[in-house]
Amino acid sequence: MTTSASIAAAIMTTYHGKCTCGQTQWDVKLEPDQAKHILCHCNTCKSLSGGTYTLNQIIPRSALTFTSGESALKKYTYTGESGNAVHCYYCANCTTHPFHHQTVMGDDKIVVRTGLLEGGEKFEPAAEIFGKVRWAWEREVAETFETLPPS
Ligand SMILES: [Zn+2]
Ligand SMILES: [Zn+2]
Repeated sequence: MTTSASIAAAIMTTYHGKCTCGQTQWDVKLEPDQAKHILCHCNTCKSLSGGTYTLNQIIPRSALTFTSGESALKKYTYTGESGNAVHCYYCANCTTHPFHHQTVMGDDKIVVRTGLLEGGEKFEPAAEIFGKVRWAWEREVAETFETLPPS
């Protein structure tokens, strides 16, 4: 392990997540600059959540560990904006959706729902994506991108 990797590992914080029914529980390790919400206003997020946006962060797959209920997760797959599959993993009992995998990002990156993490109420909004379909009465709370930020 390199010195810089040791420093990065030392400052990571573990956040606990739990579904509504308690069957599914997980831990997410975040670096300080990842302990922030990316608001997604896309129409799929509206439909899946029943709200006007979801709260997310992109993390390495290795930063997410399930402590219960992993084997009982169900998967829903849809085709994302990029034309690639998006796999959503949710509690089979209560439908809480801890994370999804956008295959366009490669095998190592996943998207966790930061709004489900204990302490998430203290995270700041870092950016808003799919601002083109943000509902008109919602105020901008962070830098907004029409769809995704340029990569
Ligand atoms: Zn559940
Ligand atoms: Zn979305």
